[in-house]
Amino acid sequence: MTAKLIKGTDIREEILEEIAAEVKEIKDKKGVVPGLVTILVGEDPASMSYVTLKIKTADRLGFKEIQENQPTTISEADLLALIDKYNKDDSIHGILVQLPLPDHIDDKKILNAIDPDKDVDGFHPVNVGRLMIGGSEVKFAPCTPAGIQEMIVRAGVETSGAEVVVVGRSNIVGKPIANMMVQKGPGANATVTIVHTRTKDLASHCKRADILIVAAGVPGLVKPEWIKPGACVIDVGVNRVGEKVSEKTGKNVAILRGDVDFDAAKEIAGSITPVPGGVGPMTITMLMKNTLSSMKYKLGMM
Ligand code: NAD
Repeated sequence: MTAKLIKGTDIREEILEEIAAEVKEIKDKKGVVPGLVTILVGEDPASMSYVTLKIKTADRLGFKEIQENQPTTISEADLLALIDKYNKDDSIHGILVQLPLPDHIDDKKILNAIDPDKDVDGFHPVNVGRLMIGGSEVKFAPCTPAGIQEMIVRAGVETSGAEVVVVGRSNIVGKPIANMMVQKGPGANATVTIVHTRTKDLASHCKRADILIVAAGVPGLVKPEWIKPGACVIDVGVNRVGEKVSEKTGKNVAILRGDVDFDAAKEIAGSITPVPGGVGPMTITMLMKNTLSSMKYKLGMM
């Protein structure tokens, strides 16, 4: 059996088209567009490339987009003042602070200073609490878990009553996706187990999963014999396992592998996400969706 591929690259395009159409409709009717500010401190190459991708996507969708590039010498007080400025700016619906921040700045203090109603990353404790309550309390689900749930739904995988096993208990992937899948509502209603480094028998839990979500950051951790035949496998892991020369650019690029042994797993699973091109493209997509939602909340449309 060869599993159906759940491609994040294709789902991203579907969702971005839906967002662009909605942005245009609201702009024509009400004369407003979603406003997103990205705050980047310093010149870390990985952070710069993430921010560039976010900006490009926002531009493509017709958002108002402000880039705040600040030197590493910026003080914590000045960064807090910058956040305060955008908290008060009615044309801005989403504020993003790219992590990591320099050592002299307290990440937590900065992230907690963002107005929860503009926290489109969904990391503010208020939004974490709203996610835990579920239902109509939820404003912004964190982007990677939101992308995972969206992929499962769009792939037509039944979640109600399904056994979901989540490998990993991080605050940005494992815990929130487990919480989302256990809620009442569409794309959820599942029976959820979280496994982690202290779990006694990882394999036996994984083998029960109708939907196996793996976010451990360990290449090839999940073996093919741990997969229930026909299961949906969502591989969140992105691990650099080497370098190769790109055929397109002639430059050295990273070789990426997931947490699942993909080649063998695809012969057993019913559906599976590839790495790269699976969950990866969904994160920025859901960030854009959250920014559009933020504007719609403000306009009383949601
Ligand atoms: P993390 O390191 O914060 O958490 C990893 C979790 O996996 C921990 O809770 C740990 O207990 C568990 N774990 C690690 N090794 C294990 C093992 N051998 N057995 C059982 N459990 C184990 O990582 P994270 O931020 O949640 O990210 C996980 C992976 O997902 C990474 O590869 C990361 O690059 C990737 N990721 C991808 C995206 C995306 O594609 N958009 C977003 C976030 C994270």
